[in-house]
Amino acid sequence: MRGRLRHLVCGSTSHDIGALFRDTPHARRDFPSGVFLYDAADGSRILFDTGYAPGRWRTGWRGAVYRRLLPPRVVAADDVAARLADIAVEPASITHVVLSHLHPDHVGGVRRFPDATFVVTQGLERTLAEPTLRSGVLTGLLPDWFATCRRLVVAEGSWETSEVGGVPLRTRDLLGDGSYRIVDLPGHADGHLGALVEGRVLLAGDAAWGSDLLAKVPDMRALPRAVQHDAERYEETARLLAEAARGGIRVVCSHDPVVDEDLLV
Ligand SMILES: [Zn+2]
Repeated sequence: MRGRLRHLVCGSTSHDIGALFRDTPHARRDFPSGVFLYDAADGSRILFDTGYAPGRWRTGWRGAVYRRLLPPRVVAADDVAARLADIAVEPASITHVVLSHLHPDHVGGVRRFPDATFVVTQGLERTLAEPTLRSGVLTGLLPDWFATCRRLVVAEGSWETSEVGGVPLRTRDLLGDGSYRIVDLPGHADGHLGALVEGRVLLAGDAAWGSDLLAKVPDMRALPRAVQHDAERYEETARLLAEAARGGIRVVCSHDPVVDEDLLV
């Protein structure tokens, strides 16, 4: 298995890091919205998340509240379809879209992939069935066809435990050759997931605000803690990922400022 893993940025937001963590100086930090494209050896093309949606969001007052808390910076060139065009990839050639969770900075480009198989967990399905304000899901960002699109739902009973950098994590092999494993990373949202690519790079979604911030998770302030689906499991997931990173796994969070052209080189 020798595929290629590329990083695309589809919009960004910024936040005061001192408002997120105790004992941290106030400073605004940029959080790009990362999308990760894996070209598998068998010809599959897997996208991990889809970034922000440019243009008007038809998401009512919930959307207005969200945009006030985390103002997105997104222009037409940030659309995932435009980012893919930049690297000569047709959106229709994407075979799978893996969604780490359903927050607006991860699902904005879903509408570009009507023919893909969407890979989600049962927790994500639950959230979709009954989105609450606290779940942070803006269903207006999802196209009508999303309710009936082709989906692969990772069932609770189908996880297997794998050693990842010496750490036991629950995974599910997506392509049958071990090159792309969906990873259960609970805490941030119900059913929040990551992906382990070729056993080396772990796409960790929003398991932390950044991979450099995994160790700071226990210092998180009350408000950012309160918006996690399950703060205790979030903290435990961050601890395990920090340990996996020490064990040689490259952990990449969705909002990391990744600069590499190919993450597997
Ligand atoms: Zn996010």
